[in-house]
Amino acid sequence: MNTIIYIGILLCLADGNYFSAAKESFRMGLFFDENQQTIPINWNIIRDNIDETVELVDTEPISVSEETLFEATVAACDFIADEERIMGAFGPSGHISSKTLESVFDYLRVPYFITNWHPKSDLYPENVFNLYPDADLLSLGMAKIVESFDWKNMAILYETDDGLLKLQEVLKLHEYDKGQAKDNIFIQKLSNDMDNRSILKKIRTSSISRIILDCQEHHIMDILVQAKEVKLLSDFSTSFFLTSMNAHTLDYSTLNTLANITTVRLFDPMQPGFQAIVEEYYPDMDPGTLTVETALFHDALLLIATTINKLKSIGAEISPKFLHCFSPDGFEDDLNLTKIIREIELKETLTGPVSLGEGKRDKFSLQVIEINKPEKPIAIWKSEYPESIHLTRNATEREAELRKRMKNYNFIVTSREGRPYLSKREDSYGNKIYYGYSVDLITEIAKIMNITFEFRLTEDNSYANLVNDLIERRADLGICDFTITPQRREIIDFSMPFMTLGIGILHKETASEEVDNMYAFMRPISWTVWFYIWTLALVISITMFFVARLAPREWENPKPWDDESRELENIWTIKNFLWLTVGSFTTQGCDILPKSTPTRTITGAWWIFSLIIVSSYVANLAAFLTMGKIDVTVDSVEELAAQSKIKYGLLAKGSTESFFANSNDTLYQKMWHNMKNEKSVFEKNNDKGVERVMSTKNGLYAFFMESTGIEYEMERKCELRRIGTLLDSKSYGIGMPLNADYRHSVNSAILQLQETGKLIELKEKWWKKEREGEPCPRDTGDKSESLALSNVGGIFIVLGFGIALAFLIAILEFIWHTRRVSVEEHLSYMEALKCELKFACNIFQKKKRARPVPSNSTSRSSSESMGFHDRLSMAKSMFAKSVSLLHLDSEERNEMRNRNPMRVIAVNGNIVEGSL
Ligand code: GLU
Repeated sequence: MNTIIYIGILLCLADGNYFSAAKESFRMGLFFDENQQTIPINWNIIRDNIDETVELVDTEPISVSEETLFEATVAACDFIADEERIMGAFGPSGHISSKTLESVFDYLRVPYFITNWHPKSDLYPENVFNLYPDADLLSLGMAKIVESFDWKNMAILYETDDGLLKLQEVLKLHEYDKGQAKDNIFIQKLSNDMDNRSILKKIRTSSISRIILDCQEHHIMDILVQAKEVKLLSDFSTSFFLTSMNAHTLDYSTLNTLANITTVRLFDPMQPGFQAIVEEYYPDMDPGTLTVETALFHDALLLIATTINKLKSIGAEISPKFLHCFSPDGFEDDLNLTKIIREIELKETLTGPVSLGEGKRDKFSLQVIEINKPEKPIAIWKSEYPESIHLTRNATEREAELRKRMKNYNFIVTSREGRPYLSKREDSYGNKIYYGYSVDLITEIAKIMNITFEFRLTEDNSYANLVNDLIERRADLGICDFTITPQRREIIDFSMPFMTLGIGILHKETASEEVDNMYAFMRPISWTVWFYIWTLALVISITMFFVARLAPREWENPKPWDDESRELENIWTIKNFLWLTVGSFTTQGCDILPKSTPTRTITGAWWIFSLIIVSSYVANLAAFLTMGKIDVTVDSVEELAAQSKIKYGLLAKGSTESFFANSNDTLYQKMWHNMKNEKSVFEKNNDKGVERVMSTKNGLYAFFMESTGIEYEMERKCELRRIGTLLDSKSYGIGMPLNADYRHSVNSAILQLQETGKLIELKEKWWKKEREGEPCPRDTGDKSESLALSNVGGIFIVLGFGIALAFLIAILEFIWHTRRVSVEEHLSYMEALKCELKFACNIFQKKKRARPVPSNSTSRSSSESMGFHDRLSMAKSMFAKSVSLLHLDSEERNEMRNRNPMRVIAVNGNIVEGSL
């Protein structure tokens, strides 16, 4: 071996160049694997930049692979077995082969350059230099970029385990393993055969619309095409972030997608300096499609050139150095190359300032670009300020770009049928088929956002499917009475509220059938009690009749002026007692009253009884009729919960149901429990609930409904009322897929509609104006109401019945009386009837002749046989009768009597004047 070396040295010395040329020469080692085949090698980058006394000898790249490590080592040993100075070697991209060569060159004290991502940045041997951004910093940079996207959930698809290492800081952002956000992140390794349709389909049907794709650049298009096949690229809301530093080199135009695809780049090809370098050294290449390896290789060559120049500047000689792999003592870094390289700070590079103080690249910047507008980065992250990111576009620019995208897009609006939000016309097509509040609202929003839209009804008309449409991105907007709930906010986004509301209780404003009845005035006292009262009145009257007959004080002289009269009379017939009991029961009193103690005692007791009954009746009647009181009525949710007669229910599978199901309040928990046990109380939609409230007799069903709906129904169905206060406070919003790019535009459109009063106008239109018939008159909260005929009509009937009965009795009495007159006057019945009727109809006739005394002869003969006193007493009696027939009251009678007791007398039934 030594002999061979000596021969070599001699040959070198014999070479004329060695002596004649002043130039020192060196070589560079290139150990490239198949991934680096495309890197254009242009040694002029060194030659043009080094001291002219130094010459670079061309070398061809040596192919290495991960599988043939031994061959790589042999190739390296073969390469160095030449005394020409080796100033450095470039390693392969594969970690294992690179590690092998790394140890060889470290042993030889030859600078070893890497231009690829390597995981463990802090363990580089002294002679190893990696120009690729430091792994830890790069991971941090990626995390900051993803953070700036403000994604609430994401899927991470990675090709190799190294890819996941690169994203370790991104994973920390979502703390996916802490449980609370476990559904927000989906991590999946790409399949080996690169058919990832099933994975992409899974993402398509999940709520995730943000995808981080970490794979080699030559797999990117395949995966995106597959994504397009499963319709993951067909909507506006999907976003892809491609972590490959070479993703910018691909042509995405064939994808023809509105999805947002962003990637990251290590340099800015728009920089004039960059373009000048590319033009000079890579004239066949487009600066925009330069790979990161090419750029880093370029910068590494510049670093070598600068190192040479540094060496020359300090007078070092780049002398040949004989190296071999098997020296037992190792080699020395005679030129102090490691130190010099570490001190260099390169400025005029393609990938920004290069300084490898610790062998790793800790100064670099990342440019975030959108693939459809790669010229201008949307954000820049710099490793010097790792905690911040610079967004290059202001809000207006971002909005303008979004508008441009939105202009070419037809928004799909998912909705459900339900008044007044959305109804269907039979005779139209397209969007015109639908009308309602939701249509008007989105029309106004579309005008502001300058977008077009198309309505699609969700399956089953259910709220749950509306959410699914947005999760699976079958729709871009969800508009209806769509309540913003915490559960929904985890899986979809909501715009700012366009209406506020709360849960209320819908009930029928009803008096019971009992009150809504003509005889309702009887109801304060039960039929049995009424029966007892009137039976008692009859019994009391009969009892008093007998008592009065026993009581001496009730027997009175019927002729009080006749002191000698021996006759006593009892005026208390059953009829009179009935009059007394009824009169006192109705608090009207009676013109005759009992005088004896026992009858007075009974009468007093009856009065007390009547007083209590009548007062109770009056009190009850007021409450019963005016307040519409029924056996069960409720005025609050507490009262509703406390009773069991009125059933209550709600719309199944809506936000009201989840309010009760998730409530911690014991009252609502109890109600929820009751409702669950009575499954039949749930309704499929609000209309059915309202219908049930209306049709259930006596208001025995109440329906929990959102106040906006209650308001709408109360405007149209006057019997409906809302019980108590609202149970909660919430809002309706427009649903959107999570992180939808246009959510800010929708928000500002709603804000604008709010400020211009359009939202109120729309509500007024659909709640109050778009209606048939007159608005319902509503009381002002004062619950007392005037009584309707339907409540008290029975009283009129009772009165009418009383009058009719009175007429009947009067007619019967008249007929009876006429019969007596016809007998007494010896007239035919018809003559008497005619005469009496004539008299009755003559309303100006105020006096009536008294009935004739039974017989003239008898009276005369008896008067003849009478003494003076007898005659005087008879005259007095006749006078009294006449006065009573003339209906003179006692005062008039006395006055007449006092004036001339003998002047007015009746003789033979005729009234005559004269003195006796
Ligand atoms: N607005 C409700 C929702 O979005 C449905 C109605 C209700 O639950 O009362 O689920």
